[in-house]
Amino acid sequence: MIITMGKYEYLILGPQGSGKGTQAQALANLLRIPHISTGDIFRQLAGQQSEFGQELDKILKTGQLVPDDITNKLVANRLAESDTNSGFVLDGFPRNMKQAEFLAKIKPDVLAIYLELSDEEAVKRISGRRVCPNCQAVYHLQYNPPRVDEVCNIDGAHLLQRTDDTKEAVLVRLANFHQQTEPLLDFYHQRGKLKRIDGAPPIDVVTANLRAILGL
Ligand SMILES: [Zn+2]
Repeated sequence: MIITMGKYEYLILGPQGSGKGTQAQALANLLRIPHISTGDIFRQLAGQQSEFGQELDKILKTGQLVPDDITNKLVANRLAESDTNSGFVLDGFPRNMKQAEFLAKIKPDVLAIYLELSDEEAVKRISGRRVCPNCQAVYHLQYNPPRVDEVCNIDGAHLLQRTDDTKEAVLVRLANFHQQTEPLLDFYHQRGKLKRIDGAPPIDVVTANLRAILGL
């Protein structure tokens, strides 16, 4: 008897703070398939001396979004590599309808996983983050507090909050996320290719739930 294995083709959607990158990596490790993060691809290319790398570096440093045609091409190239033969987990792509429609043309069977997290919880997770300006250690006021309030365990430096992590900054990014992502949820739902999962529980519980929902 010949057993044909289906390909493991996934993409993960979720707001900042949902643990999207962590879950994408866990799924990729479990299935021994690549975790393809567009953020990682951009950063890697932006570090190169090529003309394209420098251009990309400029786009990222000014906080602009990488144009869709460039992003689509980079993802298509990455998905053409042989390590994706048995599947992949996309993270950070697609982020809008244009990208989703492009992906549907080259990979029509991708299953979208949506890690749901309330805005309130996302704000709590991100705005509670504190960073040591000296050794870059990361803390969380609730989930991973330093032994002494606002002071680094390692070197005693006074902890800071990144400007990106303030409640106001997080709310702006969440609003953008909802605006761009809600149409994607409809798109995948209509194609019968959407699974929703609660991103609020601890990381390993979410991973276990993810495995159960995907039958892995
Ligand atoms: Zn420190």
